Amino acid sequence: MTLLRSWVVSANSAETPFPLNNLPCGVVSTATLAPRCAVAIGDQALDLCGAEAAGLLGTRGVFAAPGWNAHMASGHAAWAVLRARLTELLSEGSDRQAQLTPHLIPLTDARLHLPFDVTEYTDFYASRHHATNVGTMFRGAENALPPNWLHIPIGYNGRASSVVVSGTPVRRPWGQLKGPDDAAPRLAPSQRFDIELELGAVVGTPSDGPLTVAEAEANIFGYVLLNDWSARDIQAWEYQPLGPFQSKATATTISPWIVTAAALAPFRRPLPAREVPLLPHLASDAPLLYDIDLTVGLTPQGGTETVIARTNYDTMYYAAAQQLAHHASSGCPMRVGDLLGSGTISGPGQGARGSLLELSWGGKTPIQLTCGAERAFLDDGDTVVLRGDAWGQGVRIGFGACAGQLLPALPDPFGRDAASA
Ligand code: MN
Repeated sequence: MTLLRSWVVSANSAETPFPLNNLPCGVVSTATLAPRCAVAIGDQALDLCGAEAAGLLGTRGVFAAPGWNAHMASGHAAWAVLRARLTELLSEGSDRQAQLTPHLIPLTDARLHLPFDVTEYTDFYASRHHATNVGTMFRGAENALPPNWLHIPIGYNGRASSVVVSGTPVRRPWGQLKGPDDAAPRLAPSQRFDIELELGAVVGTPSDGPLTVAEAEANIFGYVLLNDWSARDIQAWEYQPLGPFQSKATATTISPWIVTAAALAPFRRPLPAREVPLLPHLASDAPLLYDIDLTVGLTPQGGTETVIARTNYDTMYYAAAQQLAHHASSGCPMRVGDLLGSGTISGPGQGARGSLLELSWGGKTPIQLTCGAERAFLDDGDTVVLRGDAWGQGVRIGFGACAGQLLPALPDPFGRDAASA
């Protein structure tokens, strides 16, 4: 893959996350423009609402909304037509430069919003290394993987309402925490608040019945970075027998740009060998993973950033297409804007673990930060930034940062009656 050159000169570098090859989909606003669809190109956003109104895109009324759902719903053919059209319009030598230039917004002037209306949110548990680490901590190395793990991409239904865009602060939650042994549960702020490094798949084509893995892959419009904030102490008490609930419901942060499956196509990678064969409806020989470098940065309030984890999406055991095929296998209808979290992405090494739970091994061995502090779990004021990039020959396909700062817990959100009595 080589760099496609654009008349937007900032897009013609090996460093920009947004070359013409990428064209990720976001929603931007400015002091004078209401939120609308845009694509990132170099250090600019192209306002597609404005370009559409000027008759440059060949569509009507698709991009004025503050979300990409209408475009996704217009189907695969429309996805390809838009990508080809934007590539032509923004290419070096295009005769439309003068008409498009008024619709460019410097990214430094743009406010970024959720790129799509998240209709549903499901989260999975699909990294072999992550599941092995967590299982070893709680059940011992012999029984690390649950008996279903090698047969099913395990998931739970999350809360679409909790999904926020990068930059939104996250408030440390209160919840029921259980002390050791016979201690009664108590209501308190979570003491073991954590992150999960994930990739989110965005369903762009609705379905109402089982899908083959190939159909499922074709229905995925693109991908975002996703931080599944997790209160481990709330989770430990609540999760049996129906899985996580309040521990995962505080917030889920996603990056502001959807990187399309089309932009990632040059980076497809094979699935790992199966330890046991999958049933036919989940089996695939297709290269369903992607070579995407992923990092987690942690910055204490007023401090400097330490990169605490580095891994790659190509280390996963199950790909998003298999997760979507499994999700739809019961006949579960899938909607435009359905968000599927990959599950925590951990690689094989100690520095490749995508959660503090694993990095600090259940809090037993805090990690050292470059500023001298250490962390087992997050402190108030900590900022966590997920980053993702696919690297070609002199081309970087970036996601933009997926960032959030942890705010202190409210003093006592459940004490209002007592306070007013
Ligand atoms: Mn998760």
